[in-house]
Amino acid sequence: MALTGTKTFLNYIGGEWVDSASGETFESVNPASGDTIGTFPRSTPEDVDRAVAAAKAAYEDWRLVPAPKRGEILYRFANLLMEEKEELTDLMAREMGKVKAEAGGDVQEAIDMSLYMAGEGRRLFGQTTPSELRDKFNMSVRMPIGVIGVITPWNFPIAIPSWKITPALISGNTIVFKPATDTPLLGERFVELLVDAGLPSGVINIVHGGGGAVGDRLVRHPDVPVITLTGSRETGVEVMRNAADNLKHVHLELGGKNAIIVLDDADLDLAADGIVWSAFGTSGQRCTAASRVIVQDGVYEELQSRLVAAAEKLRLGPGWEDDTDVGPVINSKALEKIHSYTEIGKDEGAKLLTGGEVATGNGFEKGNFYRPTIFGDVDPQMRIAQEEIFGPTTALIRVRDFDQAIRVSNGIKFGLSSSIFTRDVNKAFRAMRDLQAGITYINAGTIGAEVHLPFGGTKDTGNGHREAGQAALDVFTEWKSIYVDYSGKLQKAQIDTEI
Ligand code: NAD
Repeated sequence: MALTGTKTFLNYIGGEWVDSASGETFESVNPASGDTIGTFPRSTPEDVDRAVAAAKAAYEDWRLVPAPKRGEILYRFANLLMEEKEELTDLMAREMGKVKAEAGGDVQEAIDMSLYMAGEGRRLFGQTTPSELRDKFNMSVRMPIGVIGVITPWNFPIAIPSWKITPALISGNTIVFKPATDTPLLGERFVELLVDAGLPSGVINIVHGGGGAVGDRLVRHPDVPVITLTGSRETGVEVMRNAADNLKHVHLELGGKNAIIVLDDADLDLAADGIVWSAFGTSGQRCTAASRVIVQDGVYEELQSRLVAAAEKLRLGPGWEDDTDVGPVINSKALEKIHSYTEIGKDEGAKLLTGGEVATGNGFEKGNFYRPTIFGDVDPQMRIAQEEIFGPTTALIRVRDFDQAIRVSNGIKFGLSSSIFTRDVNKAFRAMRDLQAGITYINAGTIGAEVHLPFGGTKDTGNGHREAGQAALDVFTEWKSIYVDYSGKLQKAQIDTEI
């Protein structure tokens, strides 16, 4: 696909590519170069209403399509993603900014998820149980729910839509999808490939535009029983509140403030590699990024100097260049926010060890580049150790022992990912038990989830649901218990007690 030159894109509603009722548009901009990637409809609540009506109409047949047949469409979709992987990777490096290796990983995650959920078409297991009465059969089955409102962030622009849309589709639901306004073209390509894979009209719909007009209408629409949102904690709170009047199912995947613990007995080479990858990969813009490093006294100085040296070696640049280690951050607002936390950290008395500035020269002014930043001597209660910065900034916190490390790691409102580097198997198992997070890594950084295990967080990172694996199906289906009495007489549970 040609990426030079600007193209105007549309919404996809009821099987047709259509303009917004408003006729207004917004642009998607390359965060490394400032070039325009494309022009997209700035949609309105009326556009959402049309998309929901199309999805509602399509649901009546889609829910009856046998799940293995729905799965065949997802297999075709996975194959198309494989065929287009290189193009999507390049587009992601340009529209979202991540480096090519990571962009390829983002697409691969969608391939893996699509294959996994396609396989669910021949499982979607329920349960059969004995009945307490004679000549009676009991079972539970998963039922689709209806129109799912899918609202996604920009940081995993292909993977996250796949985490939501493929389990929703295999379960028999239809979709209205609102991608982030920073990565609309990747959302668009995702939908085009689903259409090419053979999804019937109305089963997938995409409406471009902002959270206030498009997202909010989806959240409040009475014909959308489920909202699945990945985004910031603040957005999650607002969405939950606004969905309450219609008693919607709300599935939230929100922020993180993840920590890596390094104990005195750790393999420091391995720990340093894991920290650099987790803190500065995707320019720190992962919900699972390691924005805190909790280090035991005995190795603090040594690890600190290794990390500073490694961070200073990282090459900043556009994601599509092969030798780039760290790409731009998503937009100028993010750049300002990240830098404001550098100022906050300095004001709080943390020691800026490296970075802490917007990158200049070398063409960096055209984009949003921030130098990988490490603070030392950080107190666990400082704002830079408590709040999500969502950029290439990490905070080193010194601790005496294992117990203090666990307390500090848990001493935040979020609970997404966690990690410990140690050679002591007893401590590793205690950490697996005691770290308050949805994900714990032993001797690996905080990133690297695989699609067949549940993904999500405890505490303020979410509201108790999980994406990926079997757990995702619980968001997009409801259980129905079915009792079949073939005795030919009225039998009463709990009352007819004779054997
Ligand atoms: P965001 O909250 O600003 O936006 C997320 C999406 O919500 C966007 O599509 C946005 O348009 C929409 N939105 C905003 N306000 C809305 C409203 N009132 N009603 C309906 N929709 C609304 O987040 P972002 O900046 O795109 O993404 C970064 C955040 O996402 C970070 O906090 C990060 O930790 C989080 N995240 C979490 C996970 C996870 O799985 N836990 C994964 C990736 C990102």
